[in-house]
Amino acid sequence: MQNLARHSLLRILLPLLILLGLAALLLAWADRPLDVERIRQARQLPEIPAELPPAHPPAGLDFSVIRTSQSQGTLEALIVGGGRWLQLRRPVHMAVLVRHPQGNFLFDLGLGRQVDAQFAVNTAFHRQLFGYAAVDPVKDQLARAGLAALPLAFALPSHMHWDHVSGLPDFPELPLLAQPAEREQALRGEAPYFLASQFAAHRPWRELRFSGGPYLGFAQSLDLFGDGAAVLVPLGGHTAGQVGLFLNLPSGARYLFSGDVTWTLEGIRRPADRGWLARHALHLDHDEAANQAAIVQLHRLLRAQPRLQIVPAHDETLLPRLPLFPRFAS
Ligand SMILES: [Zn+2]
Repeated sequence: MQNLARHSLLRILLPLLILLGLAALLLAWADRPLDVERIRQARQLPEIPAELPPAHPPAGLDFSVIRTSQSQGTLEALIVGGGRWLQLRRPVHMAVLVRHPQGNFLFDLGLGRQVDAQFAVNTAFHRQLFGYAAVDPVKDQLARAGLAALPLAFALPSHMHWDHVSGLPDFPELPLLAQPAEREQALRGEAPYFLASQFAAHRPWRELRFSGGPYLGFAQSLDLFGDGAAVLVPLGGHTAGQVGLFLNLPSGARYLFSGDVTWTLEGIRRPADRGWLARHALHLDHDEAANQAAIVQLHRLLRAQPRLQIVPAHDETLLPRLPLFPRFAS
């Protein structure tokens, strides 16, 4: 009798285990690294120059990374394909304060003072999914550090998703620099990714256009101050007009703030997109193929320039290597 029960239990369990194993294999296959060579050829990605472009960063240029919030946590395998299923990650929402003699600016604003009211329009599902914790807005951190009166020339979001421009209403007079395509997508956009309350009433918009030539494997660029210290490149895909910021410091250190092309540096190293499950459940990208091309180009750039420090906007593991506000690096 006991044998019979054990036998029928096995008959149920065995196919279930085989199915689970197959699903895990399929998922691992879906989350395999991107095919660099195929994507490079298909998208005709430019070659990466061996030499770094010249830069003449002025004395006084420095930057600081401001952690405005840290999420409650999510599985690593969801935020980067090929990541660990049993590893909890706690992505951060960074803002970057750049002080340049010709004008200080913020690259991304992170979560701001009004984030709770902004976020309340989301469904319960999305509030759970994109839940945030430990909010400490840029505005408050500047005030605590005695920098409330620091003149700011403009805000430059990598893109207009809610977690990058939530702090905008805390700086109502600050000119907002964005590509026309990004602005249009944001104004037409919807929750949970675009939250109109953050920017619809914002008055001082300024148009960002790439007037410069090729830069480190990107077809276009914009040298913000004409000294090669802060150079923008197009990173469209995740949104229509996402941009990346190269920051070249007086010390010789070089950074690239890469927004949300990937959520982790691991995604660029591997290279891998966000996890298949997350991508298919959430439709995170405006143009997934274009975003994957951007991942591949960043991967090739990292291989060609290993000293370049690429900083995705949410990778909490990079914080120990970055000057965390109120510390600055020059
Ligand atoms: Zn983001």
